[in-house]
Amino acid sequence: MKYIDVHCHLQNADNIGATLNAAQSVGVCGAICNATAPDDWARVRQIAREYKSVRGAIGVHPWRIHDLSGDAWARDMYDILCDNPDLMIGECGLDKFHPDMSQQLNVFNTQLQMAAELGRPVFIHCVGAWDKMFQILKSRKSHLPMIMVAHAFNGSAEILTRLINEYNFYISASPMILDNRRTRLLDAMRGAPINRILIESDGTNPADVISVAGRVADIKNVAQSEIADIIYKNTIGIL
Ligand SMILES: [Zn+2]
Repeated sequence: MKYIDVHCHLQNADNIGATLNAAQSVGVCGAICNATAPDDWARVRQIAREYKSVRGAIGVHPWRIHDLSGDAWARDMYDILCDNPDLMIGECGLDKFHPDMSQQLNVFNTQLQMAAELGRPVFIHCVGAWDKMFQILKSRKSHLPMIMVAHAFNGSAEILTRLINEYNFYISASPMILDNRRTRLLDAMRGAPINRILIESDGTNPADVISVAGRVADIKNVAQSEIADIIYKNTIGIL
């Protein structure tokens, strides 16, 4: 069985080489390392250069928008993306726990624009801001990125269905699905089309995706080897 972790933060891992070797030995053969703000872009790029199994994504997380001054970040990000065709965009998005929603919308919209223009997959964080998310997606309907991933999805079945049917999203399952108290999320995943599911650790150890895949297999009532194959193929489709 082979797995790819589509959203991790290896830049925060203590020993990246050892972490990746250990993950590889249990079947996790790839990872996408997501940045969070301009101050970790160089580190993420360096990790992606150094480790063949890692792809990088650069972006500005909604919690980090207060780090930005002016628009220079957007020019820098655009230039880096142009110089590095392998880089994806993430993580970015909307979060109700950050007070400045209008600035979040600006920063997110700018990143969606880059993803659409440059044809890069984008990893989207959305916490408690689905109304705003659907507004922005609708307003950009004819100019959206080709590949959008709802990272660490934690919404309802209705939201999941809209994301897939109206906007062709992929849905990335994180270790949150291991928590039985998240009944709304588990219901949503039960109804998710299997060809749109991805898996992620959302942390510093890509090996964590194996238990996430196991949970998806349980939810879908299929063998883990089968789900691993399907999710692997889904993932290859976005790389
Ligand atoms: Zn993340």
